[in-house]
Amino acid sequence: MSSEPIATWSPVEQEWLLRVPGRRDLAAQVDIRPDDTSFAGCPFCPDAGDAPVQVRLVPSKHPVIAAPQERAHEQLHWVLVYGSSHSQRLGDLPAEVTQQFLKKVSHKTTDLLVSPLVEAVYAFESVGDHFGPTVAHPHGQLVGLPFVPRRLTLTHGADSCAVCDLAVDRELTVTTSDHALLQVPPWARLPFEMIIAPRAHRPDLASLSPDELVSVAGCLHTGLRLCRVTYGGAMPPYLINVMQAPKGDASHHLRIELVPLHKDVQTLKRPGAMELGLGVYVNPLLPEIAAGMLRDALPGVRRCRT
Ligand SMILES: [Zn+2]
Ligand SMILES: [Zn+2]
Repeated sequence: MSSEPIATWSPVEQEWLLRVPGRRDLAAQVDIRPDDTSFAGCPFCPDAGDAPVQVRLVPSKHPVIAAPQERAHEQLHWVLVYGSSHSQRLGDLPAEVTQQFLKKVSHKTTDLLVSPLVEAVYAFESVGDHFGPTVAHPHGQLVGLPFVPRRLTLTHGADSCAVCDLAVDRELTVTTSDHALLQVPPWARLPFEMIIAPRAHRPDLASLSPDELVSVAGCLHTGLRLCRVTYGGAMPPYLINVMQAPKGDASHHLRIELVPLHKDVQTLKRPGAMELGLGVYVNPLLPEIAAGMLRDALPGVRRCRT
């Protein structure tokens, strides 16, 4: 039986799924704790004397999606390695590293969408034991997909854009800059879920001006620092979802979802039966309250840069 990844359509979920038998034993093979700051054999730690590189892209050794044999030279799954310490994430490093992270995502997205194999690109960072990381070194990932996931079509609308509409709601706004907003969306699934979006209707990172990209990265950086401040000074488990337009979809409004798992300064809100069984999220914190709490925490972090 082939160990190649296979994209499969689920008629029940009305969504694609990826079957990746090659990753079955992966976590057991790489026994590294995410808080291990002294792992000498890390494949991503820079050697002493290396020139500092803020963010670099390397091909995934265990891709969740692979090109067919005749186009085997195309790499569809990439790892975004950053930093030189296992204990510092994007929110702990200067905002310029977050800018570089998004620039790398932008350039690789453009590259991947040229391929006839790729219909959409998903970039993300998942942080925390909760997500079962297999490598301790801080990293994000970027995947070129041969299909369009349902959640990348959600901002579609004939007459309006849900993300443009969000921009006018001051009660949900945490902070703003010249070109971007940091808000708690009314559809927040978890207590401190945040959304970062350009003020202008832009479909993807590549369509942002340089100033807009700095602005978006600044709001993401501020959001990450707010995660730590509102979780008693520790970094909660979190997801960054970079939700860019599928191929050729100008109606999409770029959004970056920042989804920390905490519900107060010391407790996590883990998705349970309603979430995993039905896809129905039970959020104990009203978004207006969460936005107010995040605004109150702002003096403890650096604001978005313009
Ligand atoms: Zn390392
Ligand atoms: Zn819009």
